[in-house]
Amino acid sequence: PKYVYDFAEGGRDMADLLGGKGANLAEMAGMGLPVPPGFTVTTDACRVFLATGEPPPELEGQVAEHLAALERAAGRRLGQVDDPLLLSVRSGARFSMPGMMETILDIGLNDLSVLGLGRTPDRERFAWDSYRRLVQMFGSTVMGVPSARFEAVLAGIKKQHRAADDTRLDTCDLIRLVETYQDLILEETGQEFPQDPAEQLQRAVLAVFTSWNGERARIYRRREHIPDDLGTAVNIQTMVFGNLGPDSGSGVAFTRDPATGQPGVYGDYLQNAQGEDVVAGIRNTVPLQQLENLDPASFVRLRDCVQRLEAHYRDLCDIEFTIERGTLWMLQTRVGKRTPQAAFAIAGQLADEGLISPEEALARVGGHGLARLMFPRFDTSGTREVLARGIPASPGAAVGAAVFDSAEAVRRSAAGEKVVLVRQETTPDDLPGMIAAEAVLTSRGGKTSHAAVVARGMGKVCVCGAEGIAVDPDGRLFSTPAATVREGTVISVDGSEGLVFQGAMPLADSPVMRYFEEGGQPPADSAPQVVRDVHRLMGEADSARRMEVRANADTPEDAARARRFGAQGIGLCRTEHMFLGDRRPLVEAMILARDDTERESALNALLPLQRQDFIGILEAMDGLPVTIRLLDPPLHEFLPDLTELSVRAARRDALGQQPEPREAELLAAVARMHEENPMLGLRGVRLGLVVPGLVAMQVRAVAEAVVARKRAGGDPRAEIMVPLVGAVEELRLVREEVARVLKRVSAGSGIAVDCPVGTMIELPRAALTADRIAQDADFFSFGTNDLTQTTWGFSRDDVEAAFFSAYLDKGVFPTSPFETIDREGVGRLVRIAVAEGRAARPELKIGVCGEHGGDPDSVRFFHDAGLDYVSCSPFRVPVARLEAGRAAL
Ligand code: ADP
Ligand code: MG
Ligand code: MG
Repeated sequence: PKYVYDFAEGGRDMADLLGGKGANLAEMAGMGLPVPPGFTVTTDACRVFLATGEPPPELEGQVAEHLAALERAAGRRLGQVDDPLLLSVRSGARFSMPGMMETILDIGLNDLSVLGLGRTPDRERFAWDSYRRLVQMFGSTVMGVPSARFEAVLAGIKKQHRAADDTRLDTCDLIRLVETYQDLILEETGQEFPQDPAEQLQRAVLAVFTSWNGERARIYRRREHIPDDLGTAVNIQTMVFGNLGPDSGSGVAFTRDPATGQPGVYGDYLQNAQGEDVVAGIRNTVPLQQLENLDPASFVRLRDCVQRLEAHYRDLCDIEFTIERGTLWMLQTRVGKRTPQAAFAIAGQLADEGLISPEEALARVGGHGLARLMFPRFDTSGTREVLARGIPASPGAAVGAAVFDSAEAVRRSAAGEKVVLVRQETTPDDLPGMIAAEAVLTSRGGKTSHAAVVARGMGKVCVCGAEGIAVDPDGRLFSTPAATVREGTVISVDGSEGLVFQGAMPLADSPVMRYFEEGGQPPADSAPQVVRDVHRLMGEADSARRMEVRANADTPEDAARARRFGAQGIGLCRTEHMFLGDRRPLVEAMILARDDTERESALNALLPLQRQDFIGILEAMDGLPVTIRLLDPPLHEFLPDLTELSVRAARRDALGQQPEPREAELLAAVARMHEENPMLGLRGVRLGLVVPGLVAMQVRAVAEAVVARKRAGGDPRAEIMVPLVGAVEELRLVREEVARVLKRVSAGSGIAVDCPVGTMIELPRAALTADRIAQDADFFSFGTNDLTQTTWGFSRDDVEAAFFSAYLDKGVFPTSPFETIDREGVGRLVRIAVAEGRAARPELKIGVCGEHGGDPDSVRFFHDAGLDYVSCSPFRVPVARLEAGRAAL
């Protein structure tokens, strides 16, 4: 098999095989952009290596062939003593994992070829600078010497010379550095740094393969839900040099501002620098615009490449480039990560420019991003001292205690505290802390620094390059000219404005939230751009989607909000809160009733209260369906706690006081109703079948509310939903009772009341007998919370805290099945129930009312499964509308 592809053989559609970096390098080469020549070792080869511990036997020969071709074209050989060809060996997986795996530069240098590379005086320093980089990268990545050891040596030499940064070290320093590094490697590993360029190359390739399973790569993949078995490709590429002096340099660029979506070339540039210097935040970069003054010709060429790339990829691209003595080289491109605001803006703009269709624009945004745009902002209307200003790298408002290293962030957040990770700059080693933190604050680095890129990718708040703060990780504090902030002090980070405040700032609605609260009306021209962008794509989604979106709402206020947010009805109106608060005594009376008369009078007292609740909700949702679920939770939830009650009684006994009326009965009832496993106990439809009159009272309240609304000229559309049905017989019994009550209310009022009666599908048995249940159901609504609990045998309240984090770590599932529907298991039951239910009753209306109804990935599944609607909390309604639209594309 073929394991190696020349850049000329690849293209962007080959990312599975060549990795994103390799595929895009090939694509750029194909476009005629200046890409240093090279070739890519496929992910297939990596997978063989990961599976067997050995590279495929053909690999060595194929690499040698491609290398020979490269050498012929260059007229130089790898490591050739008088004029060496040097190579970079770069990792690059299917999905971008910025900085998570290894890249080794300057392969081919050794004690001899370094002299060839530095053959003229103006190249001497550069040659040794490159060599010390190779020895360090190779020593740490391939030979396993901790990079901190190299850093310490470097810091020591810089201190001796009072050199502010690496560029101040002269050739002698660098020679000494190389020697010290080589000694360090020998000392640490018992092996010499290899002088043979071919050996360097071969070992570097294997090290890149191995880095796929490095700890930080694994953590990153888990967090980003990237499969563990993809493997990485390896790109072997001719080196070009940005460290040849002030007319050289290295930089990163975006074709638009990744924070706002504003068109124009953005980025950071560093003169006389190689590789990671730019993103590492070791030296302060300059904004790319300054390249126009430093090297106008290269700037123009870069701008031209950037524009071509954006037009070609029809999306925002991010780019890594190097300038070698006035010659521009493109080293990487990919469709770039961006903030949600920028995602909406760019999608709209590209559609306006005709580069993409309106449908594609919709496909480019998503529910997670929209949810973030709805998050609150800091309310800055009051006077607040700004502690620091930095670059707004990833938007949002976060409050937390300042911590100064990754481990502390992890420790505190595991204990339930919200934290802000404060660092000079972050490195891939800070990843666990970044995941644990609410926000990341750094004192160095630009929009393309590690902190910014990773935070943006994870949707974390980030302010970077806050140069006014001095971070002292050892002292566990940072200071500004005005204040000192110690570990544990609460600060507020505004990633949209790039501001840091002392203490916890109050929050205010975001403009996008206000837009939805105001009913999603067409925004004025003066409205914030982001609101106009959102409005436009919501319109696109609404016209594309097939599924309806309803809301889960139990009060007239929630119903009204849901309606403003675009809900097309209520998919789940829970009635349990109607039994709480000051109504609790009535419920107690109902439960404790000694006979039918007592029970009836308790129920009769509840009736008008419930009716009033329903009238309010039906009014708020006039003209739209309102699915009312009969009482679901176990009855003891409405009674006092057993222990509490016993203690109270004992205390009164001891004081010789009279017991309260019916105290003993209450105690006995509570004791009687105690359940070991209430979730699987007397609840749902089972209640209705054993508590006489309960269903009748609830249905009567609904029916009379319908009558009242009709009399008032309204258009009430109540539907009655029976929870926790496992057998059609249960449903049939309830249905008969419902029919009796509706008939009675119709006859009594002279107004015909006809409510569809349906059931929740939330037990595996219900899903598996859906054909029978459908015979007696006008609609199905999947209760995916209970269905997930009963399918997995998980009690959500117990397992999430107990072991889900271990399960996620061990990769049992990529996300909690309570967050995103488990397609294989729970989803299978859903599909079975849909197919069999519809077969039995083609007009059966089917929806979902579990929390999954507002989860972007789950919405897509429900669309694919053929549901008619999803129902979710009012605040998720816009997210569900957007995702239902995207799913239909
Ligand atoms: P990452 O995936 O972490 O971005 P890269 O493979 O892109 O790693 O390498 C990091 C940096 O190394 C690049 O941004 C570039 O500056 C430098 N680099 C890689 N290959 C070359 C090359 N052939 N010539 C010069 N610099 C290179
Ligand atoms: Mg890169
Ligand atoms: Mg349920």
